[in-house]
Amino acid sequence: MLDTKLEDLSRELALCLKCKMCTYGDWPENYPLCPPYFKNEFFTYSGGGMVYIARSLLMGLIDYSPAMAEILYQCTTCGNCDRICEVLPVSPPHKSVTDIIRLVRSQLVAKGQTGLPALAELGARLVEEHSLVGKRSSEHLADLTARGTRGPVLFAGCLTAQKRPTVLRDVDRILASADVEYQLMSDEWCCGAQAYDLGLWESLPSLAAHNVDALRALGAEQVIFLCPHCYRFFDKVYPSILNKDLNELRLMHVGEFLGELAREGRLNLRREVPLKVTYHDPCSLGRIAGQFEPSRDLLRQIRGLELVEMARNKMNSYCCGAGGGVKWAFPDFSRETAAQRLDDAVATGADTVASACPLCEWSLADAGGALKVANVTELIAYAID
Ligand code: SF4
Ligand code: SF4
Repeated sequence: MLDTKLEDLSRELALCLKCKMCTYGDWPENYPLCPPYFKNEFFTYSGGGMVYIARSLLMGLIDYSPAMAEILYQCTTCGNCDRICEVLPVSPPHKSVTDIIRLVRSQLVAKGQTGLPALAELGARLVEEHSLVGKRSSEHLADLTARGTRGPVLFAGCLTAQKRPTVLRDVDRILASADVEYQLMSDEWCCGAQAYDLGLWESLPSLAAHNVDALRALGAEQVIFLCPHCYRFFDKVYPSILNKDLNELRLMHVGEFLGELAREGRLNLRREVPLKVTYHDPCSLGRIAGQFEPSRDLLRQIRGLELVEMARNKMNSYCCGAGGGVKWAFPDFSRETAAQRLDDAVATGADTVASACPLCEWSLADAGGALKVANVTELIAYAID
């Protein structure tokens, strides 16, 4: 993908019918699912509209500009348009709507036309500190008891480490209880997933090479990701960035791994947790990676916990507002979208909204409101103690 040019996508770009199917979810509910389209109520802000921007660029009708960036950087890469559009995939080798959006963003960055100071800061941070959110502290590494020198490697990710540091401690507590020894990389760098979405492509080869070399140095056979963005990016994009497959590594999101332990009878969920919980599907784990059930299955196993569904769920789940780098590019719009998602959660009567992604949790917690925002692992760890 990093070598792809707009000219290579001429067939995909010519196919969009402006049918607007990509702005809504599955029939018959037809929930609005594209946050920028929902906010702006204008086709240009939808997946199809952004494909038309790319097509107009290719035809030389318009040029890269900050005004264009203002539209393209509102996409949260939630993947709804990719899933709904049945027209672009008829042209193999297929590039999706979000692939096209990322490619145009990368060109906006390369041409200095984003008009977004936050992007320059992020780019510098990735090069100097190898993190999206500042130099890593070691807060998330305190009091770990199951960390050892053998077993699967836990990949925390910079958002977990800096924004949700208790998640690693909760996972550590769960693994200690299940008698699982795990390893951590001594110098884990940002996976690059958000940089990829934001079009900050220059730093990606070095981030990917560093992380894969560090895993190989540990002799890793299995890698457990605490963040679904890291998981999916390693799995789907690292091979093309590094030009080699990662077949020797078994890559899993933590929800899948804990599900395996549960099936082996190794989760000791003794404590009752009398909470009414609704589960927010992270776009990157649910709609995009197809994992809807592992987190729900874990929550269902907690005694006393009542799991209730939001109207927009699973394939029709609404984004938390932070994906695609929108949390950095347009923080107010990101918070607005998160507040809409919290309204969905409040409507269920739940007291807690749980997710399985540090970016979603940061976004939902940052939008305020009375609901407790929790990671699924926090509830599992609590049920064990
Ligand atoms: S990925 Fe989501 S936010 Fe972006 S254009 Fe598609 S539906 Fe809209
Ligand atoms: S991207 Fe696909 S679904 Fe969206 S308007 Fe174009 S053809 Fe229709």
